[in-house]
Amino acid sequence: MTDRAVPEGAGAEGAGAEGAGAAGAGTDAPRHDVAIVGGGPVGLVLGCLLATRGLDVVVLEARDGPSGRTRAIGIHPPGLRVLDAVGVGDAVRAASVAIRSGVVTCEGRTLGSMRFGREPIRSLPQRETEALLERRLAQLAPGALRRGVRVERVVDRGTHVELVTDGDRSDPLVAAYAVGADGVRSGVREALGIGWRQRPGVGEYIMADAPDAPDAPDAPDGPPTLASSAASAAAETALLHFEPAGVVESFPLPGARRRWVARVRRRPAVLEPATLEAIIAARVGASLALDSAGAPSAFTARQHLAERFAAGRIALVGDAAHEVSPIGGQGMNLGWLDAAHLARELAAALAGGAAASPHEAFDGYAVIRRRAAARAMRQAAFNMSMGAPATGIRLRARNAAVRMLAVPPVRGILASSFTMRRL
Ligand SMILES: Cc1cc2nc3c(=O)[nH]c(=O)nc-3n(C[C@H](O)[C@H](O)[C@H](O)COP(=O)(O)OP(=O)(O)OC[C@H]3O[C@@H](n4cnc5c(N)ncnc54)[C@H](O)[C@@H]3O)c2cc1C
Repeated sequence: MTDRAVPEGAGAEGAGAEGAGAAGAGTDAPRHDVAIVGGGPVGLVLGCLLATRGLDVVVLEARDGPSGRTRAIGIHPPGLRVLDAVGVGDAVRAASVAIRSGVVTCEGRTLGSMRFGREPIRSLPQRETEALLERRLAQLAPGALRRGVRVERVVDRGTHVELVTDGDRSDPLVAAYAVGADGVRSGVREALGIGWRQRPGVGEYIMADAPDAPDAPDAPDGPPTLASSAASAAAETALLHFEPAGVVESFPLPGARRRWVARVRRRPAVLEPATLEAIIAARVGASLALDSAGAPSAFTARQHLAERFAAGRIALVGDAAHEVSPIGGQGMNLGWLDAAHLARELAAALAGGAAASPHEAFDGYAVIRRRAAARAMRQAAFNMSMGAPATGIRLRARNAAVRMLAVPPVRGILASSFTMRRL
């Protein structure tokens, strides 16, 4: 598949009827247990989970090297538990910073705050998380990740799946099951003819990673002072400024930096560092000094849900199955939870051998994880609506709602949904 899939035998039923058991026979290609299309964070985690179960897995990734895009930073407690299961949890804890609390303000006044309890959210740039996962997969299953290999076609033959890659179009790769972990523009999803429905939650944002507040005091040589304790607490706090002109959020990053995100009415035609610096200064009075490592970027938050998460011997995971707004930072974590569930069902289907019906292999996965994705989208849409520009009576009503949400026991419920304990 190029960015657009080249569908063949779209869907399991069609493909099965076309030639169940016909192909693969006649080819000497080794038969893998599972072929994963896409080596982003979700494909890599699924590869590691299957390898820890002793399964023969191959991960086919179109990119030659790591992606340069600035994307996820937030790793929530349930996502971290999946990373523990594949053996990279401690490396992530060591490389990341903890976000232990969140504070919501408007026009300089605090509307509410919450603590995330004993299990904080961890913050680590996605490319670093992916690098740890790639190293782990190489330990667990050397050679399983094949970079620079674009899958062009996926065909479910009823008894196995064939994958045609741009490297070798004459001899398809054969696997008992295949998984599309190929992101929002999933060619696998398109090849299966699975619908991609838009869900509520759209907004324009600009963001950049900047050195932390220049006025934060340096680490003291002597005993901690009130000022240094305040600075270290701030270094572990997510700040949500619900301003009339639109939300400004900032999150701690490793290396004494912060990720700044601002909602805008429309994308600026030209995105200079000064554009974001001016917005932050006007809305919250903070002076950012963006450096060359933190060039600003713009993104449109939108949400989509696949109509089905599986068809026959092929399943979808991660962004291929659900595009969740980055506001709330849940997409990658949701994908890891998908991967953990799918790994169990794949192992069970493979243990069942020929007796396992491909049409039932992923039934539980498809229903349960689709519901979880729909819940995450509702929460992200709510988060986005709270951060929309608001004035007058709308602003006062929203601030009153935030104050109410920040009072126990609602605050505890809110904190656990922010940390994805309900997904
Ligand atoms: C600004 C921003 C901030 C975000 N912040 C957070 C956050 O804090 N927390 C969080 O949980 N989520 C966050 N997200 C979401 C997160 O980045 C995604 O959910 C995550 O990257 C999805 O991972 P994935 O592996 O499913 O897909 P992707 O990361 O898109 O990976 C898909 C891979 O498949 C490969 N591929 C595609 N087609 C083919 C093919 N035909 N053959 C072979 N390979 C192919 C691609 O090259 C790519 O490497 C954020 C997103 C954005 C944009």
